Amino acid sequence: MAETSTKAEYFVGVDLGGTKILSGVFNNSLALQTTSKLSTKPQRGVDAVIDRIARCVHDSVDEADLTIKQVAGVGIGAPGSVNFDSGTVIFAPNMPGWENVPLRKHLEKALGLPVFVENDCNIGALGVYGAELKSKPASMVGIFVGTGIGGGLIVNGQLYSGFNHTAGEIGHMVLEINGPKCGCGNKGCFEALASRTAIFQRIKEGIKDGQKTLLTDMLGDDLGDLRSGDLRKAIRRGDKFTDKVIEEAAEYIGIATANLINILNPEVVVLGGGVMEALEDEMMSIIVETANDYAMAGTMKGVEIICSKLGDHAGITGGAVLARSEIRKKKSDA
Ligand SMILES: [Zn+2]
Repeated sequence: MAETSTKAEYFVGVDLGGTKILSGVFNNSLALQTTSKLSTKPQRGVDAVIDRIARCVHDSVDEADLTIKQVAGVGIGAPGSVNFDSGTVIFAPNMPGWENVPLRKHLEKALGLPVFVENDCNIGALGVYGAELKSKPASMVGIFVGTGIGGGLIVNGQLYSGFNHTAGEIGHMVLEINGPKCGCGNKGCFEALASRTAIFQRIKEGIKDGQKTLLTDMLGDDLGDLRSGDLRKAIRRGDKFTDKVIEEAAEYIGIATANLINILNPEVVVLGGGVMEALEDEMMSIIVETANDYAMAGTMKGVEIICSKLGDHAGITGGAVLARSEIRKKKSDA
């Protein structure tokens, strides 16, 4: 698989999450070579997590039959607000103790390699943009629907991170003034209406209210180990209730898409994340139709709305895209 050359021409992308660390080795053309996974164990503290990230990077490089010297750089996405310029994680809500952590500095020391740090959704958007769209469109909006909803904005071919490096928090657009409570403290956020968490919540409430659904036949009354894929199975077997919940979630995603098209008028809107991966066939046509209904006349002309094929690999791909472009920039500056 790996060539015998010892030149540093590989890139490692890391997706740091609250529960797991995923590391992927990519060649110079952004083809994925191998991945390694490790649990994050955030309760052990910041230093322990940084050690685990470094271990996961080493594991993936070893799996690819490479040495760390053949890696030119590492790009990592962290779950929270990140200052890219300083490589600092300002705050990560799901990881205790992660306040103003100079992650780049620590990892560069641990790995002996250049490291670049970004917010996880920004890096996911960058992965879709650089690897899937080959950086062709001038502008793109990424919407990632999973446990929560995150986004990333590409403007003029560059990641747009805003004045306080917080741009792209599209999950907290308020779509319903008196809607359900969101983890951020507000009510009616997009994330509280259409994320996997919100969808599961609505299904569980429906069952409590006496709704009939095939999901209880499949998984038992408490829906123990419910996954997005179960919703797809239930819908394909003709489950009306699940179909309605998913249709509603898709409508909210369509409305959010229309809002973003009205504001930014991007060339491409890319939908990704676990919910989209599992329910693409069930949701895409509703999303596109609703976006068309709500966007201002003329704003949708020629705008593509597509579903990403990167799935769980958007983050690590984005890490490699980021590391490759930053290292090329440095070389051309030198
Ligand atoms: Zn919110």
